[in-house]
Amino acid sequence: MKYEKLRGVKDILPEESFLWEFIIKKTIEIFKRYNYSLIIIPTIEEESLFVRSIGDVTDIVLKEMYNFLDKKGRKIALRPEGTASVVRAFIESSGDVKDFFYIGQMFRYDKPQRGRDREFYQIGIESFGVNSEYKDAEVVKLAKDILDNLNIKSYEIHINCIGTKEDQKNYSNKLKDYLNNNKEKLCEDCKKKLERSPLRILDCKIETCKNLIKNIEPITLSISKDVYEKYEKIKIILSELNIKFKENINLVRGLDYYTGFVFEFTTDKLGPQQNTILAGGRYDNLVEELGGKKTPAIGFAMGIERICEVLKAENFRLDYDKTDVFIVYDNNFKKESFLLLNNLRDSGIKAVMSFEDSSFKSQMRQANKVNAKFALIIGEEEMKDQKFSLKNMRDGTQMRIKKEDIIKIIKA
Ligand code: ATP
Ligand code: MG
Repeated sequence: MKYEKLRGVKDILPEESFLWEFIIKKTIEIFKRYNYSLIIIPTIEEESLFVRSIGDVTDIVLKEMYNFLDKKGRKIALRPEGTASVVRAFIESSGDVKDFFYIGQMFRYDKPQRGRDREFYQIGIESFGVNSEYKDAEVVKLAKDILDNLNIKSYEIHINCIGTKEDQKNYSNKLKDYLNNNKEKLCEDCKKKLERSPLRILDCKIETCKNLIKNIEPITLSISKDVYEKYEKIKIILSELNIKFKENINLVRGLDYYTGFVFEFTTDKLGPQQNTILAGGRYDNLVEELGGKKTPAIGFAMGIERICEVLKAENFRLDYDKTDVFIVYDNNFKKESFLLLNNLRDSGIKAVMSFEDSSFKSQMRQANKVNAKFALIIGEEEMKDQKFSLKNMRDGTQMRIKKEDIIKIIKA
């Protein structure tokens, strides 16, 4: 019997995984610059951790959770996102570090399509303990630095402020009043949300719902004075950092724990349904709600698949995976070639050779295939003179060099 992978999951093969390596490497570079530390969290948690933090009337909890009973009948879920687990770990460990980043797969029973998988990867950060407009601005700058370091051009930054839980309750009542009069125009999901979680309607991706909420009074008019003032300060700092952003009054995020400042980075490369590539915001109540001390916090998550799609759409070319040298040898000198291969690698050069006995011509073809910068040719004549031929694969020029000079020349 031949197996196939399940719907909504994928194998990432080397044709694409080099992009993943690039994304992870470049992103970690920026995390280090900002003094964030890696945290590794489990893929399974008690289901209620997610229900309580993400919210019981969110799409994730209502429709998308991978949950099951374990052998002892406990309710377990595969993590649909990282924040809840990092907050749990933060409370449980009470260590000194307060700025974390994570990388890993998340699971959501989403409708699979481009940029929307059932197992997908996020890179995210969570920062605890600071409630300052400078922190909020710093987190947006950090996210922007990541996209810039990845050389992504087509993105926009959208921001909003959704106030305290109390503000959200007041605004939800206004929304209810307004939308109850237009109930029949809402999609089936939003009709359900109207009673228990009207704010979520602002996050609906269906055109008729979007139209309906277009002219609604913005939430920023309903938020408390100090939160609003802080939001104004964040905008000023962002401008001073030369960060361009758009205020989006319908931006509420799909998870319940957010309070105050929220943001999304969007792209026009992935179609309207999957246009968010990075998203986050402040969640100042969650640590306390999950049993910790009251601690302000802010974080974001970036979807690796969507970043990959944007890089591909922008025709991104990567030079960093090139082989330095491919050894092309006469089969009589396999051992000598193998020893030389190891010398090269020991000095930090990315060197490759084939162990099959094959012709010069076939080896040159392989050198081209792995994108080698040089071919080092070891034939009878070369062995006799102890002078090897080094062919530059880009311009086709060739020179004879002494064995002891090989490493120096390739590195140059
Ligand atoms: P969307 O509105 O597109 O469903 P979301 O609001 O559910 O996204 P978040 O929970 O904020 O997404 O996750 C942050 C990021 O993770 C998203 O911006 C996106 O890049 C990525 N992401 C979310 N769900 C998926 C998925 N099913 N497949 C691939 N990437 C995803
Ligand atoms: Mg979603």
